[in-house]
Amino acid sequence: MSNYKNIDSALIHGGIYGDRFTGAVNVPIYQTSTYEQSGLGENKGWEYSRTGNPTRAALEALIAELEGGTHGFAFGSGMAAITAVLSLFKTGDKVIISSNVYGGTFRVLDKVFNHFGITYSIENTADINTLDSKITADVKAILIESPANPLLTITDIKAVAALAKKHGILTIVDNTFMTPYLQQPIKLGADIVVHSATKYLGGHSDLVAGLAVVNNEDLAEKLAFIQNSTGGVLGPFDSFLLIRGIKTLGVRMDRHTFNAKKAAQFLLKHKAVKKVYYPSLEDAQGYEINKNQAKNGGAMISFELYENYDIKTFFKSLSLIALAESLGGVESLVCHPASMTHASIPYETRQKVGITDGLIRLSLGIENIDDILSDLQQAIEKSEVK
Ligand SMILES: *Cc1c(COP(=O)(O)O)cnc(C)c1O
Repeated sequence: MSNYKNIDSALIHGGIYGDRFTGAVNVPIYQTSTYEQSGLGENKGWEYSRTGNPTRAALEALIAELEGGTHGFAFGSGMAAITAVLSLFKTGDKVIISSNVYGGTFRVLDKVFNHFGITYSIENTADINTLDSKITADVKAILIESPANPLLTITDIKAVAALAKKHGILTIVDNTFMTPYLQQPIKLGADIVVHSATKYLGGHSDLVAGLAVVNNEDLAEKLAFIQNSTGGVLGPFDSFLLIRGIKTLGVRMDRHTFNAKKAAQFLLKHKAVKKVYYPSLEDAQGYEINKNQAKNGGAMISFELYENYDIKTFFKSLSLIALAESLGGVESLVCHPASMTHASIPYETRQKVGITDGLIRLSLGIENIDDILSDLQQAIEKSEVK
C-alpha cells in the first residue's frame, strides 16, 4: 500500500491498487463468471462471481477505506444496495426514515418491504428530541440522508447515531449527496453507509451502481450473506468504471461545490427567486451542524421561482442545463421533484414536507460557471409571465 494521509490520495491509491500479477496501474476488468479450481476444495480464493470478483473486490475495498468502515459491498444500483441493507430486518421490525428521504427508498419500504411485515415511519430526524420519543421497541434502525433530497435538510448525524446507540439500534446514512470526500458518517457514529454510486462517485452519468459500507465484522458477515444470497451484485465492467470515476472525485467535487456556491449566490440575489435551499447559506436550516459534520454544503441546490414565473417555460428554455432525473454527473442537470424524483410520494405528503409544485432542483456540473449562470438567467427571463 502507498503512503498517504489524505483522502485526495486515497481516492487514487486506496483499496487494492493496480494489478500485482502484471504491474498494471489499474485493476483489470476480470470479466469472468467462474474460476477454475485446481482440485476439489482447492481454489485461489475465487469460486463464482456472484460471491466474489476481483474487480468488484477492489472497488469494495476502496469504498470501505474511503468511508472509514471495515467492509464495502457493491451492488447493481443504489436501490439494490438499500434493499440489501433493509434485508437485515425481519417481520415486526420498524425503520424510521427522514421526511425528505429519496423517493425510491420510501417506495421500497412502502410497497415491497411491507409484504414482509417490515414497517416504517416518517419522522423529522432534524428534531432530535422528538425523534427520541418515536423510538419504540419495534424500531430497529434510523435511515437518514443529510442533506436530504430535495430540500437539502440537514440532520445531525452524530446526534442521531448517539441516540440510536442509546436505544441499541442501527444508524444508516445514505451519503449519496455528499460522498466520503465531503462527509464520513461512520466517523460520526453511523453503522452503515449506503450510496447511489450512480451519482457523484461514478460522476459521469454513464453507469448505475450502489455501494454499502459497514463498521463491524458482524454486520459485514450478515450483509455479505445477503449480497450473495439475493445476488444484486455489480458487474466487473461497471466496477472498473466506478473505480475510474472515484479517482477524480476530489477534483470534481471541488469544482461542483465551487459552482454550487456561485449559483446559490446568484439565485439568492435574483428578483425572480422566492426561496433558495442550500446548506452553505448562513441562514439555511442546519447551517452550523452541516459545517461541523461536512467539508461544505455539497453541490445540490433547490429553489422556487415566484408565481409570476412559469416553470414549464423555465424548464423548456434551458439549453446548457439538461432536464433529467439523477444528479452528480459532470453535466449540470435540473429536475422537478414533484413530478419526477418524488412523484412516488403521495401529493398530501409532498405538501406536508415542502416539496411544492414550484420547486426546482439543480445539480451543478463542472462546466464553466459563467455559462451555467447565463443559461439560468435567460431561462428565468423567458419564463416571466407578463
Ligand atoms: C439516486 C439515489 C438513490 C437510488 O440509487 P439508484 O442508483 O438510482 O438505484 C438512493 N438515494 C439517493 C439519495 C439517490 O439520490
